[in-house]
Amino acid sequence: MSEGEKKEEEGLLRVSINMDLEYRWSGGSYYTKFYKAWKEERKILGSKCSGCGRVYLPPRLICSECYKKIDEWAEISDKGTVRAYTVVYQPFVDPRTGKPRQVPYGMALIQLDGADTTINYFLEENDLSKMRIGMRVQAVWRDEIEGNITDIMFFRTIEE
Ligand SMILES: [Zn+2]
Repeated sequence: MSEGEKKEEEGLLRVSINMDLEYRWSGGSYYTKFYKAWKEERKILGSKCSGCGRVYLPPRLICSECYKKIDEWAEISDKGTVRAYTVVYQPFVDPRTGKPRQVPYGMALIQLDGADTTINYFLEENDLSKMRIGMRVQAVWRDEIEGNITDIMFFRTIEE
């Protein structure tokens, strides 16, 4: 930026505009099946490789271990095990809601029972001293299911 451009910019009035941008994307056959089961039956489905038995959540078309096309499905529990975690203190606008997210909040890589992969999701717990690798958690669902990942508000620590 030249010195002249900087001087021009200094005198400009800045106006913030918030826009709602509605968009749609095609989930393809795998995500269509996944979200239909999610919305209509409140089931979490993973795709299961018939070659090596690995179960993917979210579902994948091709196995990353043996490169076979995956055409089996497996039901996944909404309970799981924390494999990694953190507490986030940096405020940001949550792209899923368009609103600032309250900080601090816990995030974790969670391996749901029946899956061989992890998902990254919010924890109800936000106290690092109460978190540990291997702690058990369960999804807390919204009352109204919309067929979206945000139907799960967060994962709550459970004792088993
Ligand atoms: Zn495989």
